[in-house]
Amino acid sequence: MNPQFELYIDGHFEPGAASFDSVNPATGQVWAKMPEARTEQVNRAVEAASRALSDPTWGALTASARGKLLYRLAELVEKAAPQLAEIETNDTGKIIRETQSQIAYVAEFYRYYAGIADKLEGSHIPVDKPDMQVWLEREPVGVVAAIVPWNSQLFLSAVKLGPALAAGCTVVLKASEDAPGPLLEFAKLIHEAGFPPGVVNVITGFGPQCGAVLSSHPKVAKVAFTGGPETARHIVTNTSHNLAKVSLELGGKSPFIVFADADIQSAVNAQVAAIFAASGQSCVAGSRLLVDESIKEQFLALLIERVARIRIGSPNDIETEFGPLCTERQRGTIEAVVQRSLQQGVKVLAGAKSLDQDGFYYAPTILDCTDVELPDCITKELFGPVLSVDTFASEDEAIQKANSTVYGLAAGIFTTNLTRAHRVSKRIQSGIIWINTYRAISPLAPFGGFGLSGHGREGGFSAALEYTTTRTVWLRTSDDPISDPFVMR
Ligand code: NAD
Repeated sequence: MNPQFELYIDGHFEPGAASFDSVNPATGQVWAKMPEARTEQVNRAVEAASRALSDPTWGALTASARGKLLYRLAELVEKAAPQLAEIETNDTGKIIRETQSQIAYVAEFYRYYAGIADKLEGSHIPVDKPDMQVWLEREPVGVVAAIVPWNSQLFLSAVKLGPALAAGCTVVLKASEDAPGPLLEFAKLIHEAGFPPGVVNVITGFGPQCGAVLSSHPKVAKVAFTGGPETARHIVTNTSHNLAKVSLELGGKSPFIVFADADIQSAVNAQVAAIFAASGQSCVAGSRLLVDESIKEQFLALLIERVARIRIGSPNDIETEFGPLCTERQRGTIEAVVQRSLQQGVKVLAGAKSLDQDGFYYAPTILDCTDVELPDCITKELFGPVLSVDTFASEDEAIQKANSTVYGLAAGIFTTNLTRAHRVSKRIQSGIIWINTYRAISPLAPFGGFGLSGHGREGGFSAALEYTTTRTVWLRTSDDPISDPFVMR
């Protein structure tokens, strides 16, 4: 029998108001039943989070004790990484070597925020008045609605839950309706770690019936959202009701710039990882290669040769390097954009077709766009294994092309010229710049985007402050009586 997952609300596991099938993208077959939360359950989850906020079991806990709970959660995530990875691979099609290593590293994010819990200090303010003590206290912002997409969901949840719990907030975490299995399983670790009931609730459901109810709920104080720009617009509209704080981590169309003086083999290897890891379903995918025209042929020859050797296969096989897309719907979108781009005149250097086998496989694809002015495959985020190739003749042209989309999440710069690296990185409109590397992340380093890639930063110390609000306290220190304000002297 297929596994059946449950919602986690107010410290209890329960079925959804309805349920839906989850399909294994490698086979196209249903592999699990998922619970669907609708209005009543979403409301109950928010009410539970709201009660937990002031319940002494959480509200009166010291910051150090909150940190210890986060440490315990980190240990449990590390131990459960193999099982969580297997569920994520079955549910999303992401290859097992990626899910295993990514989830093991997720534990480091909880450890980092565990250490921050008792370092969110207030401050003393030396005001311009005599006989006054004024200080700033830091308080949790309140109930957080954390809404995530299906890709890298344990990681994208950790960068919200970690700082939220460190700050003393409570959370309703909404997993995507596409492949929610890993987060529903993760709820068991929250329970085992000993967080009081209602502090973390894990639900899933569809956008309008679940995500919209959650993000517009009057008791939600902050919405931490990761997903596409179209959904982000709904989030902003939804929060016009509760006026919640909003952080948005959205899509990207990140340039990968290779100068003629780069270490070419390193740049080729990094480019393969940048666009074909996770089958391109990554917000920071380096999906636009901009290569100096003088090395175009040499670079592409090495790239095409390596891409031809990518091992495509079952995501559950540790030897597999490239798996299916998460949904058939996503594959259809990619097919349509690639077809349109071909009609606009781009040339196929590799792939550009679905694979003739079970599951939602789309071939690693490279499209030469050098003779076409901004085809669809350059301007639209495909969230798939499609690399567009363009060239430049000067540093200025590389920068102008890099900055030519509405996005600004990440950029790669490959050069051995130190002064150029500094110059170019300063002029790229992007929240993350990787120089002679790509995709490096750390709990200590903030990430987030410019433009339609969103606002707010996740990761790092400053992200924890985003889950706090401040209270300014004034204390008069004089024992002299306060004079009657209406008696003239
Ligand atoms: P999506 O925007 O379709 O869905 C994200 C979440 O929003 C899901 O949980 C969904 O149920 C929910 N949602 C949908 N409609 C809603 C509504 N009306 N109100 C509230 N919630 C609603 O995203 P997706 O297609 O699952 O994921 C892919 C997108 O996410 C890509 O654009 C990708 O670049 C982006 N992404 C960004 C980052 C980042 O850190 N910047 C990381 C990963 C993915």
